[in-house]
Amino acid sequence: MNARLPHRDPNAPIGAIARAAAQHGDRAASDKVNVSFEFFPPKDDASEQRLWESIQKLEPLSPDFVSVTYGAGGSTRTRTHRTVERMVKESGFKPAAHLTCVDATRSEIDKIAQDFWDVGVRHIVALRGDPAAGIGQAYVPAANGYAYSSDLVEGLKKIADFEISVSAYPERHPESGDWQTEIDNLKRKVDAGATRAITQFFFSPDVFWRFQDRVLDAGIDIPIVPGLMLQPNFKGLKRMADMCGVCVPDWYAELFEGLNKDAATRTLLTASLVSELIAELHDRGVRDFHLYTLNRAEIASSVSRVLGLHHRGRRKSSL
Ligand SMILES: Cc1cc2nc3c(=O)[nH]c(=O)nc-3n(C[C@H](O)[C@H](O)[C@H](O)COP(=O)(O)OP(=O)(O)OC[C@H]3O[C@@H](n4cnc5c(N)ncnc54)[C@H](O)[C@@H]3O)c2cc1C
Repeated sequence: MNARLPHRDPNAPIGAIARAAAQHGDRAASDKVNVSFEFFPPKDDASEQRLWESIQKLEPLSPDFVSVTYGAGGSTRTRTHRTVERMVKESGFKPAAHLTCVDATRSEIDKIAQDFWDVGVRHIVALRGDPAAGIGQAYVPAANGYAYSSDLVEGLKKIADFEISVSAYPERHPESGDWQTEIDNLKRKVDAGATRAITQFFFSPDVFWRFQDRVLDAGIDIPIVPGLMLQPNFKGLKRMADMCGVCVPDWYAELFEGLNKDAATRTLLTASLVSELIAELHDRGVRDFHLYTLNRAEIASSVSRVLGLHHRGRRKSSL
């Protein structure tokens, strides 16, 4: 039976983030939110063109920073360098360069880091990297290299006063046998100088809350920024999740059933699910979000608008 419900202002926005915006005023709410976008370095001219189109669409959202991933091979190193250098020169973004310990000596890595600094990069996402032989193979530190990311953080701090972000794993890194090992490792990275941890992607807010409790219990007080995956290709997402030890809940998989040939619906669904996850995290106090964009602007732009970030772009352009 229909029941009468209290009436609200028809102009009031919907959703958790919109509610926060209504409470505090649009400006205050969106000013308190920080978003960062992650890109990967393009492989060829066509993908470089697509990346820069995405950058142009996302720039007005004024992200806190953007990051560019890094692969151990010589050509991908160069592409990361080229991409962050171009961002410094041609965009309003503050780029963070990812850097890994894989397959390089300390002096090679120190030189790469110094080159980043010299072109104006002030933020590094410092990582160990996956085994050169592939994910799932045994990791063997490079001869005369940095063995783990905590060693890399320590080394980077000696080169220049970089801002340093590191990884965190709400479902544990596959090589960490237990939670104590996982949290001890995060603590080592913080003690070495990291000031922000960006998480592996996850699907349920409770995975994040449980992890945050473990971090708090260990007395670690740097921001733990949830990393949110914007991959609308479910098959690819599942493959990646399985490799990284990330659980894809049954309810999430079921939502994508029958959509293999329907990319448009998968894209809309992904945007809607990420927006809901963001809303739940935001409702309970999270204000920093890292979006794995896969170099595409549509979903990143849509979920950033839910966060109210388009207001920031408008204000900037009206200054
Ligand atoms: C936000 C984010 C961004 C990423 N970007 C990239 C990228 O650009 N390029 C890329 O190749 N990969 C990237 N990765 C993937 C990452 O490189 C892999 O997950 C890799 O397997 C671990 O790197 P890490 O920095 O997390 O490792 P670490 O923090 O060094 O830890 C890795 C494992 O080693 C263990 N360990 C740490 N120290 C020791 C020690 N002293 N002795 C024994 N065991 C130890 C830890 O417990 C953990 O299980 C990214 C991951 C995340 C979450």
